[in-house]
Amino acid sequence: MASLDTATLSAWIRRFRDSISEKRDWLTELDSAIGDADHGANMSRGMDAVIAKIDSGVPDTVDDLLKTVGMTLVSSVGGASGPLYGTLFLRMGMVAGPATELDAAALGAALRGGLDGIVARGKAEAGDKTMFDAMAPAVDAFDAALTAGADLEAATAAAAQAAAVGRDATEPLVARKGRASYLGERSAGHLDPGAASTTLLFETLAQAVAEPS
Ligand code: ADP
Ligand code: MG
Repeated sequence: MASLDTATLSAWIRRFRDSISEKRDWLTELDSAIGDADHGANMSRGMDAVIAKIDSGVPDTVDDLLKTVGMTLVSSVGGASGPLYGTLFLRMGMVAGPATELDAAALGAALRGGLDGIVARGKAEAGDKTMFDAMAPAVDAFDAALTAGADLEAATAAAAQAAAVGRDATEPLVARKGRASYLGERSAGHLDPGAASTTLLFETLAQAVAEPS
């Protein structure tokens, strides 16, 4: 696959929803350790709403599709993660523009724009124990793979791997952003729920590219 069309992008979004539903209890468990035990419910409510929207018709352009995902997440998820994931998709859509497909470089630019949007909104920095700690290494790994000559499949696989490493590295950290930061030192010793769901986002992207339906 040389580029992602709207059908492949919507297959990614669908895989992400399925993965979130499957891991819903685990995400909730992670959030019960350092938050308010709603991350699984938040993400699964949001992604179910996204799929209901897409089921009524997949938009024709990449930006309309990604903006629909973003707006639905912002309007259906009350927690911190709704506006943050919503911003990711809205910004990805803005960067992608009214194209009908994204090649590897365009996907990289969209992901970078989405990450920048999350930072603009939530002000997270590396090591704050947030979704940033999985997403930033994933986007960096994607770019580095492309620079090294990798194709879309290899670059998305590298991104997924980097996200998982970033997620695992949140375990010993003391949270400095979001609800988990209220716990101070007691937030150490647990994975960050948002970094866990972000890893699912990149794993399902790699799967959608590797096994197009
Ligand atoms: P809430 O914290 O409102 O209950 P969720 O439980 O759905 O929302 O999401 C919590 C996740 O949101 C955290 O695990 C963290 O990854 C992410 N998060 C919280 N605040 C920020 C922030 N300022 N920047 C980036 N990510 C954040
Ligand atoms: Mg929560």
